[in-house]
Amino acid sequence: MDWNLEIFRPKEYLESVYSIDFDRLKEKGITAIIMDMDETLLPREMLDITPVLFSFIQDLREKGFNICLVSNSMHPERVDYVSKTLKLPSITMAAKPFPFAFDKALKLLNAKRKDAVIIGDQLFMDVLGGNLAGIYTILVRPMTSEKFWLRQWMRRAEEFVLEKLGLDYLA
Ligand SMILES: [Mg+2]
Repeated sequence: MDWNLEIFRPKEYLESVYSIDFDRLKEKGITAIIMDMDETLLPREMLDITPVLFSFIQDLREKGFNICLVSNSMHPERVDYVSKTLKLPSITMAAKPFPFAFDKALKLLNAKRKDAVIIGDQLFMDVLGGNLAGIYTILVRPMTSEKFWLRQWMRRAEEFVLEKLGLDYLA
């Protein structure tokens, strides 16, 4: 069976958020960033806001980007802590890939779909959700390996799809 997996294809696939060329995004007219949290900005098990992360967010702000954290995390207090520390608005229990949270984020950021980018580590949440919503997507590699079997299984499924899309070069 020839499955059409194009709906999972990210516009860019990069090692980490630090590899993203934000100046180029700016040139494309992108001003709003819908940012995943776990495994994109910090490892799922950690609450460490490193100076590197802190100044990364600060730099983006200075470049004129508006950022909103959008997380599927079931731990609102964790998202809240990160959001307060980085001084970013956040939406938690977002139920990505469903579009509701993205719509809410766009409203918060006062942006249109074409002005936004979704950045995240999960093909089936961040990228699929972004593609379904018609928003530019950037996939980054997850920061750490998963310990929970269900997430491990999901990672393997994502790697399978990436390979089918010819995007396994980062693995
Ligand atoms: Mg994530």
